[in-house]
Amino acid sequence: MTPILRIASRAADLGDGMIVRRTLPSRQQRMVGAWCFLDHAGPVHFQTGKGMHVGAHPHIGLQTFTWLIEGEVLHCDSLGNRQIIRPGQVNLMTAGHGIVHTEDSLSDGQRLHAAQLWIALPPDRQDCPPAFDHYPELPRWRDGGTEFTLLAGTYGGYTAPAILYAPLLGLDIASHDGASIALRLRPDFEYGLLPLSGTATLQGETFGTDEFAYLGLGRDHLRLDLSADAKLLLLGGVPFAQPVLMWWNFVGFDKAAIAAAQRQWENGDPRFGPVEHGRAHRLAAPPLPWHDY
Ligand code: MN
Repeated sequence: MTPILRIASRAADLGDGMIVRRTLPSRQQRMVGAWCFLDHAGPVHFQTGKGMHVGAHPHIGLQTFTWLIEGEVLHCDSLGNRQIIRPGQVNLMTAGHGIVHTEDSLSDGQRLHAAQLWIALPPDRQDCPPAFDHYPELPRWRDGGTEFTLLAGTYGGYTAPAILYAPLLGLDIASHDGASIALRLRPDFEYGLLPLSGTATLQGETFGTDEFAYLGLGRDHLRLDLSADAKLLLLGGVPFAQPVLMWWNFVGFDKAAIAAAQRQWENGDPRFGPVEHGRAHRLAAPPLPWHDY
């Protein structure tokens, strides 16, 4: 059986002290299919007067995929969208050529638990016009006491509504009392598991919320033992054909294009328009890591 790669998360600061646990990209494994970035925020109960407030920042070349578990978050972007996301819903922002957004707790002193994942766009979609979609209803079913929510792709005869440009799977699996389950997989997909609460045991190895289990390709099924109150994401996809470059909030295939986007952000270029409703402050990009660009 294919060995499982255990990837520890690291803390990342989204700004204003909002700390998340990031598992991809990692040194051991950069992507799972087109999924290229996995952040897990919370669960946290903010103190009175505190919340998540991520200032205006740009993206190119990717889709941001937000899965909300607890709390309420207001997304605002430079296309003029203003959308509250609530538990059980997905926001999908297709950055393409460029977009700017803010993300704020709707009210302070509340709970927050969310996953924010990035999807790399393929070369022919890298520069597409930006778009934003909100999906309040997703396919859900129960099987033997385990609850499944299909976030992305197709599974078991269900299809999630998110518009994607690569073959991907995102499946939320939740067990209240604990369960042993078997999942059907596609051998042409590589897969990974991200526990969001509780633990998952597979091939005799137990994974908790601070780590990611990379499962690789070539499996047609998977057996999982879930702890009580376990919740995890099964992510999969056909391995991405081209290595992507990721820098700050930009995804692309060459350094010059990413450096140009950063300069345009820094110079206030109209490629990255204003966000009217979010809290106003703009996040500053760290200095580019490459010389000669
Ligand atoms: Mn963002």
